[in-house]
Amino acid sequence: MAYIGVAVSVGGVQNGEGRFVGSVSRVLVVGGGIGGLSATLALRRAGVEVDVAEINPEWSVYGVGIIQPGNALRALDALGLAKDAIDQGFAMEGSRFHLADGTLLADLPFHRVAGPEYPPMNGITRSRLHVLLTDAVKASGADVRLGLTVDAIDGGHVTFSDGSEGDYDLIVGADGIHSRVRALVFGEDIQPEYTGQVCWRINVPRPPEVEGIWMFAGTNGKAGCVPLAPDLAYLLLIEEPPPGGERVPDDELAATMRERLAEFGGVIGELRDAHINRDEDVVLRSVMAVLVDPPWYRDRVVLIGDAAHATSPHVGQGAAMAVEDALVLAEEVTGEGTLQEALDRFMERRYERCKFVCDVSRQIGRWEIERRHDADFAGLTQQSVMVTAEPI
Ligand SMILES: Cc1cc2nc3c(=O)[nH]c(=O)nc-3n(C[C@H](O)[C@H](O)[C@H](O)COP(=O)(O)OP(=O)(O)OC[C@H]3O[C@@H](n4cnc5c(N)ncnc54)[C@H](O)[C@@H]3O)c2cc1C
Repeated sequence: MAYIGVAVSVGGVQNGEGRFVGSVSRVLVVGGGIGGLSATLALRRAGVEVDVAEINPEWSVYGVGIIQPGNALRALDALGLAKDAIDQGFAMEGSRFHLADGTLLADLPFHRVAGPEYPPMNGITRSRLHVLLTDAVKASGADVRLGLTVDAIDGGHVTFSDGSEGDYDLIVGADGIHSRVRALVFGEDIQPEYTGQVCWRINVPRPPEVEGIWMFAGTNGKAGCVPLAPDLAYLLLIEEPPPGGERVPDDELAATMRERLAEFGGVIGELRDAHINRDEDVVLRSVMAVLVDPPWYRDRVVLIGDAAHATSPHVGQGAAMAVEDALVLAEEVTGEGTLQEALDRFMERRYERCKFVCDVSRQIGRWEIERRHDADFAGLTQQSVMVTAEPI
């Protein structure tokens, strides 16, 4: 595959013998979320100077919880954070699939991708994962600037939204699904698409019997219960939007979520009746997806995470892919050769894998929309576990 890119390498860091290795010594990471913070940590570990520009002045995260499959734990382990994530989350052995009334269809144990000392999966609140990552980045010596974005990028030269400027060997666009870096460098034509589904989520007390991901197939989509801590879980419903459309008035969120879960029995029915009461606890999102054609770089700018490949959450791999991108990128740009060679290697290692996750997630969503109750949901989920277990 031929990629447009830079022909020379100007950066590099000194290795133990005083020899310059790698194609970058100064990097700007735009976006202080899961992918950007992972890239910052991986680059700092290799001795690269990193500035981070995060648009949110509070540097907070919104949302509920996140599933961390084995490959996510393996990637976090490379950053020294897997053990803390498990300590602060809930270790899980596998998934169970049910009919809407609670009848068990399949029990899928997952294997220990991250090694025998780690569980197959972990659930954690987004805020706890964010604190782990931000604490590690603060300790890493990276320069984090909050309430800041990029207004213009010209080669490695950046003009920031506060008027300041900087020169970098590499600019990493880790600014999420609505990436500004992508718009500035790759054009406004690449836009996320609505997948036809919405996702409802709410934190609930963990039912003691729920020790893994429990999914329930309903008429319009799937409900699930995912542990996030010994005392906490989240209840989710991914489905076609309610008759009124994707937007539900803020003061009708709890009532509408309860209504949309009406057909479900078992733990889902019990949680619905006991805990979906306050509108402010309910998070409703339209599910969007985007996959940028390769290469995900132009000149000195590269996209990672949701900026390059955002998927529906059907196989819980979005954040895992973002952390893996970060590790592979840092490894390649601090390895041998020019920046273009490094970014070509990054693409070779990342594109097909991320595309697979996007395709599988899209397929499961389509089956749900088409009400393909005969489709092999468990088989495709298991296949995604096997493929993402492959080394990166
Ligand atoms: C409903 C739902 C459930 C999900 N569940 C899971 C799950 O269980 N497991 C899983 O692995 N994944 C899940 N995902 C996907 C996961 O959340 C994303 O893939 C992951 O957060 C991507 O990380 P990122 O760093 O690329 O982007 P983000 O996490 O979105 O981070 C982007 C960062 O960039 C900042 N930013 C945005 N614009 C700018 C700008 N212009 N300038 C500077 N900074 C900017 C943002 O404030 C943010 O800090 C789910 C997604 C959805 C929608």
